[in-house]
Amino acid sequence: MSTLQAVKQDELEVTQQYIDEVFETVMRRNPHEQEFHQAVKEIFDSLVPFLAKHPVYRKNNVLERMIEPERMLTFSVPWMDDEGNVKVNRGYRVQFNSALGPYKGGLRFHPSVSASIIKFLGFEQIFKNSLTGQPIGGGKGGADFDPKGKSDAEIMRFTQSFMTELSKHIGPDTDVPAGDIGVGAREIGYMFGQYKKLRGANEAGVLTGKGLDYGGSLARKEATGYGAVYFVEEMLKDQGLTFEDKTVVVSGSGNVSIYAMEKAQELGAIVVACSDSSGYIYDEKGIDLEIVKSLKEEQSKRISEYLNERPEAEFYEGGHGIWTVPCEIALPCATQNELDETSADVLISNGVIAVGEGANMPSTLEAIEVFLKNGVLFGPAKAVNAGGVAVSALEMAQNSGRLSWSFEEVDDKLKEIMKDIYKTSMEASEKYGYSGNLVVGANIAGFKKVADAMIAQGVI
Ligand code: GLU
Repeated sequence: MSTLQAVKQDELEVTQQYIDEVFETVMRRNPHEQEFHQAVKEIFDSLVPFLAKHPVYRKNNVLERMIEPERMLTFSVPWMDDEGNVKVNRGYRVQFNSALGPYKGGLRFHPSVSASIIKFLGFEQIFKNSLTGQPIGGGKGGADFDPKGKSDAEIMRFTQSFMTELSKHIGPDTDVPAGDIGVGAREIGYMFGQYKKLRGANEAGVLTGKGLDYGGSLARKEATGYGAVYFVEEMLKDQGLTFEDKTVVVSGSGNVSIYAMEKAQELGAIVVACSDSSGYIYDEKGIDLEIVKSLKEEQSKRISEYLNERPEAEFYEGGHGIWTVPCEIALPCATQNELDETSADVLISNGVIAVGEGANMPSTLEAIEVFLKNGVLFGPAKAVNAGGVAVSALEMAQNSGRLSWSFEEVDDKLKEIMKDIYKTSMEASEKYGYSGNLVVGANIAGFKKVADAMIAQGVI
């Protein structure tokens, strides 16, 4: 008899009812926060068999405690543009859960940033960080600031103002931010400089994703993208498949996307399309990554300019179009809800065999449902993209030991961590009667560790 069968049907029903009630509370307390509701719903749906089997979590009200951030900060970020105009943006930091260690998670600078976006990202981060096996809690932050078209001096003034407030709430043992969309090595550098000046101390471990000259880790830049491909490699391996000669589509052209493409190509895949917010490029012979790197990492240019160097490639305007490109492996690495039910249907009719989420929550709940129903190998974000934050934790470890490890050392550890996340998620899916469903597996495995730590630490 499977573990699930051992749970009586009425227990499952009672648990479902209880979870629905807690979800009602989430909706009532956080009205209009659609992305946050979506992230909570995905986790809650996975937890029914687990909570039904182990009443201790309900007895300790773990679910209710987990959905309430330990602290949610909002603050104003005033700054001056190059013309001398005074501007103001809203800054956020959610310190969601510290059961496993200091709050850890990136900062996103994008005009779409809101309390809902920060809370969905922070909530996901709790379970993602737990899956890495590293001692890190969950947090996230950012601002509704649009870095597009801003001068270097404007970026510096904005990030310094942002850090002036944030510095009061973070520290190497308290809360350790990093990058996310719109925040890369340059922004981390300015923030680190400002933090150091305000604190009067060089606390390297306060931020991760730093430059290599002042405490950054080798392979951090590559970690999310490489980690995503290592994870999908494990999914394929279980079916006797590899990346070799597979046609791959990777959305986005930021840090995650670029290094997912790089690793997929290294493993013999043909990456035929990538995108930015303006549209996507299709290059039948395989994307020339050096051109994409130069456009995106050095010049901040639109992806359409790829055609200047490769006139035989094609450019198509618009966001979702990239999912109409036939492929065997799809890696959504752009942003939340970029892949909906219609796109999922198109991918399936074009013969997709595996989907690995490099971005945070890139598939809608309906799209995930479509993939699972059709037997597509589906790797959920909190497992697939955990490599970035995992190497951030390795950067923290190097900082506190005043060490710096080689690229190979970090990359080897990353590979092991990704294999481990796959194994743990797979085992949890089997144990609770959802064999091969990595959404359920990752959610249960991530949840269990945090929940156990919360119970062990008492009602605080
Ligand atoms: N922003 C990344 C994520 O979504 C990395 C966070 C970190 O390194 O702290 O996981």
